Amino acid sequence: MTRVRHNISSGSLPRSGIELAAANPPARSFAFLPRFEPGWVWLTGAGPGDPGLLTLQAYHALQDADVVYFDALISDDILRLIPNDTPRVFVGKRAGHPSLKQPEITSKLVQSARSGCRVLRLKGGDPFVFGRGAEEAIALGAAGVPFRILPGVTAGIGGLAYAGLAVTHRDYNQALTLITAHDALGGLSSALDWEAIARGSPVLVIYMGFRLLDEISKRLIAEGRAADEAVAVVSNASTGKQRTVVTTLENAAEEVKQAGLEPPAMIVVGEIVRLKASLDWAESAFTSIAETQQAAAGI
Ligand code: SAH
Repeated sequence: MTRVRHNISSGSLPRSGIELAAANPPARSFAFLPRFEPGWVWLTGAGPGDPGLLTLQAYHALQDADVVYFDALISDDILRLIPNDTPRVFVGKRAGHPSLKQPEITSKLVQSARSGCRVLRLKGGDPFVFGRGAEEAIALGAAGVPFRILPGVTAGIGGLAYAGLAVTHRDYNQALTLITAHDALGGLSSALDWEAIARGSPVLVIYMGFRLLDEISKRLIAEGRAADEAVAVVSNASTGKQRTVVTTLENAAEEVKQAGLEPPAMIVVGEIVRLKASLDWAESAFTSIAETQQAAAGI
């Protein structure tokens, strides 16, 4: 191992981390990244929106892919990272337009892979968290198409951190439940044991529950949660459009409506929400980003 010797006599002892890094530069190679081979599908998590939350694997795969199939929740900032000449195909749901059925999406992936493309399937958050990643992977495997999973930052953990919401704190909760609130028909999920959830988990992190907030709150109160329990609803987490409403179970639906919040949004129920005031590192930053952008645009 080569040791870096500092020239004490010159009086230039490195002090900061930056100076130390300059004295001992890291190997700037990404040789540890897997090779994206033709004929493979990489099911890739894009995180909740901030392109900085892409993994190194995801970023490099976007550069190497021959085609990218992406969902509705992929932010424009992330799509801009795809090289201009790489075909990108929207396969998500868009209001007012018929959406592709899951088998149609899978068959596009299979066809592309069989034609020898490196196929990147880009999904919001983490592909295995309420993202149908497992369904797609199983279908690819059944069709004999090799696949790799590139995990991503899920909205219900990393996205919430951008709103000063820590999903665990050892003084508050030793368990955490991730929930998708609705069933295949869009109503409040009847497959869930709401009583057990209300009783058993101090923190509930609810995906796809925005339009059902009123029903969810009422159901939780009916199953024994306190009407004044803290709730946060975070829309567009980690993007420049992030907004948060902090409220209580009994007031949540009304206050979110008053505030004019829009989906996509996460709902968090639990006393950890009360720590937000001490953990809020990002929302003030978003304000200053918005102000900077407005100043630059002369608004
Ligand atoms: N696989 C994704 C979740 C897909 S389900 C993940 O791991 O994050 C889609 C739901 O995720 C939305 O209805 C919303 O509840 C939540 N969601 C995704 N991105 C979000 C964001 N940037 N801000 C708030 N909620 C988000």
